[in-house]
Amino acid sequence: MNSPLRQASSLPSTGRHFLQIPGPTNVPDPVLRALAAPTIDHRGPAFAELARRVVTRLGPVFGTTGPIALYPSSGTGAWEAALVNTLSPGDRVLCFETGHFAVLWQELAERLGLDVELVPGDWRHGADPATLAARLAHDPQHRIKAVCVVHNETSTGVTSPVPLLRRALDEAAHPALFLVDTVSSLGSTDYRHDEWGVDVTVAGSQKGLMLPPGLGFNALGPRALEAHRTARLPRAYWDWDPLLDTAEHGRFPYTPATNLLYGLDVALDLLAAEGLPQVFARHARHAAATRAAVRGWGLTVLCADPRAHSSTLTAVLMPDGQDADALRATVLDRYDMSLGNGLGRLAGRVFRIGHLGQLSDLHLAGALAGVQMGLAAHGFPADPAGLTAALDVMSAA
Ligand SMILES: *Cc1c(COP(=O)(O)O)cnc(C)c1O
Repeated sequence: MNSPLRQASSLPSTGRHFLQIPGPTNVPDPVLRALAAPTIDHRGPAFAELARRVVTRLGPVFGTTGPIALYPSSGTGAWEAALVNTLSPGDRVLCFETGHFAVLWQELAERLGLDVELVPGDWRHGADPATLAARLAHDPQHRIKAVCVVHNETSTGVTSPVPLLRRALDEAAHPALFLVDTVSSLGSTDYRHDEWGVDVTVAGSQKGLMLPPGLGFNALGPRALEAHRTARLPRAYWDWDPLLDTAEHGRFPYTPATNLLYGLDVALDLLAAEGLPQVFARHARHAAATRAAVRGWGLTVLCADPRAHSSTLTAVLMPDGQDADALRATVLDRYDMSLGNGLGRLAGRVFRIGHLGQLSDLHLAGALAGVQMGLAAHGFPADPAGLTAALDVMSAA
């Protein structure tokens, strides 16, 4: 089948398209089959049972025993839900500029009428707990009402240390809510909403959860529910109230994304069958293999902090004067593989290799082979030892 993504001049593809962007990710065949089932009555008993089962089983993935609000939305909708349910007009919010997604969240907060303070960043490091501590020390009146952090910055492949940021809040005895975006880490990377003291965890369906786009999630801690009672930003569609006890009665206040919930049920089966610790270890191994390839080729991993490497994607910096988008176009045209583009200030300078969701060692080896061949076709003298280094990492594990 010829992929609709390729130019008309391309040769027909003789296999599957390789979707190596950091989300949406490859949707496993059992999930695709589940999505194709007939849509049922969302007010009927079979649906209620499905909804209860799915929402209950999501808890362990978030690491929470608390409520999870599930929306027919993109991840961006879940960002908005987290803010409008907990904050009031003019509230001060502290955001860390870890990359493009952090900036988009900040801009969304500003459009909602929040007073956003952005801690600048270089897009190569995560949010720094010492910087947070220093900022909180200058806020004795507790004007900051929430701290927003992107756990896994999908534009840069850099993670932020959520437990250490929580500790900075605790040590300052600062009451600000702690809101964390896990859209590209949940289900792929160790994450513990309850244990790490996160107040709202934001997530989406199309990355580690291996579904198509279309579901947004908020996991809610007790302090967030407390803040919800007095929060005054206008909220209607996003209001948590009618979603708080989906796990008990399986009802939604509007038509839910029925078929995506069929898919989610199966995706949760897949995660449970592999075991979350094994899922996390696989992602870490694939990330290490990818970094070995990138360095072997003579290219630079964008993440500059060895403690902060993402398990789910690797952003690769091209040498000055080399156009990352031209490389991506070559790879798409010749090898029918989509790589992630550079976002925001990284446009044209960076390409991103997604290695999350459903992925086997051989699938990743194929993807890295495609990058290596694409680099050669593009005129970059990539050392073929890159691919060998990646294979060594995977076979040693
Ligand atoms: C993909 C992504 C989002 C946005 O999700 P949409 O579904 O595109 O709205 C937000 N944050 C992070 C970290 C992401 O990776």
